[in-house]
Amino acid sequence: MSKSNVSSTKTKEYFSRYMEGVEKRNLGESEFVQAVYEVASTIFPYIADKPIYHEMQILERMAEPERIISFRVPWSDDDGNIRTNRGWRVQFNSAIGPYKGGLRFHPSVNQSILKFLGFEQTFKNSLTGLPMGGGKGGSNFNPKGKSELEVMRFCQSFMTELYRHIGADTDVPAGDIGVGGREIGFMFGQYKRITNHFVGILTGKGLSFGGSKMRTEATGYGAIFFVQNMLQQIREDVEGKTVLISGSGNVATHAAEKVLQLGGKPLTLSDSGGFIECVGTQSDGLTQEQIDWIKELKDVRRGRISEAADEFNNIIFHAGKRPWGVAADIAVPSATQNEVNGEDAATMIKNGVKLVAEAANMPCEQAAVDAFVEAGVSFGPAKAVNAGGVGVSGLEMSQNSARIAWDESQLADMLQSMMKSIHDSCVEYGEESGGTVNYLRGANIAGFVKVAEAMLSYGHV
Ligand code: NDP
Repeated sequence: MSKSNVSSTKTKEYFSRYMEGVEKRNLGESEFVQAVYEVASTIFPYIADKPIYHEMQILERMAEPERIISFRVPWSDDDGNIRTNRGWRVQFNSAIGPYKGGLRFHPSVNQSILKFLGFEQTFKNSLTGLPMGGGKGGSNFNPKGKSELEVMRFCQSFMTELYRHIGADTDVPAGDIGVGGREIGFMFGQYKRITNHFVGILTGKGLSFGGSKMRTEATGYGAIFFVQNMLQQIREDVEGKTVLISGSGNVATHAAEKVLQLGGKPLTLSDSGGFIECVGTQSDGLTQEQIDWIKELKDVRRGRISEAADEFNNIIFHAGKRPWGVAADIAVPSATQNEVNGEDAATMIKNGVKLVAEAANMPCEQAAVDAFVEAGVSFGPAKAVNAGGVGVSGLEMSQNSARIAWDESQLADMLQSMMKSIHDSCVEYGEESGGTVNYLRGANIAGFVKVAEAMLSYGHV
């Protein structure tokens, strides 16, 4: 967050004392401290003249998870060796509803990353307008290179502990990096088997067992609907704009698809091995056929993005690089946290990028965020941009409770209007004199207000 947000001397002093406390209590948890800094730097000026929030220690309590569950996940590989991973569920804040947030399976997962994600999730879920608290979980298990049966045994073991901590009115996890439809199916099956209950304790389920239409597309499509709203705010449109996208998973491929549907040009996608770029003068970017091919490559064949360059002659692969050096109008980082640093931001600004929307969670380092804001680049923060995913998860919960299934066009309309309403809340709290919108501040304050009001009502809990 731009340091200019914390302006008066007294507010500055409170803020730095608060951050010192957060750092001391969360030693070595840099991602979590980074996420709290970004939110608190915008909230402190907002509550400067509202003493009740200080008296009731709202921000102190918000930066402390209600509960963290950490557990052993033993499983056996195909050679019969016993392997042990660590699993977590961070139940961060249930002020406005049951804990809700994804499960991530990736070797980089640790408590700091899950705390940052759970903290962010609390504000994001509040922004959707639905009654959902914030949570996140996962494991340092690496699904890459594992057989189908190994992934199944791991998921079953993970759920054999997790089942006792979740419930349709308590905590409803979903997918995230490394957890897609396949893993959700294995975990839901194990829950049902252990408890003998068929209830909506996970979202992102298959359509034949309680999943919602549009959930797969929701995060990526929602992100581009948010971009569309940001552009309309300045009387522009997605049509004809060139767009850099990183990642090639669920969020990235659906973001690329929606850009294309709205007449834009998705120029890049990536994975941890490098990025692909559409080349040729007047390149129209990736086609639907190419996006479908990449979805199949990633979801079914579980291959590498470099293979797209062997298949299509207008695509080239840049090994070990990220896409931020390619000239474009818009950037939508959609892979993982801290994938855009200050240097990348400077390159993008120099190349003429005018809008950055975070479809992944916290993909921009603080230095990058500061650079974008200072350069007047319109910056959409993750908790607003990617809220469509959890928004449709909330709609999946409603359908499960009512035992109904809405059709695709109904859900697409609901997603689009949810993203518009999130955008409008950001404008309400983030509009500056001169008409520009500080989306970062707008999203943080709009997300904060509802959770804080509920916490005030509960007293000291
Ligand atoms: P997927 O697992 O489907 O895809 C993740 C993509 O990011 C892959 O292309 C992966 O490449 C790449 N990636 C992961 N880690 C790294 C890394 N360290 N360096 C470079 N690339 C990396 O995940 P999703 O698309 O679901 O999630 C992407 C982001 O969006 C995450 O930040 C997630 O938290 C966020 N998000 C997802 C939601 C959803 O509904 N799925 C909802 C809201 C936010 P590789 O295959 O090489 O690892």
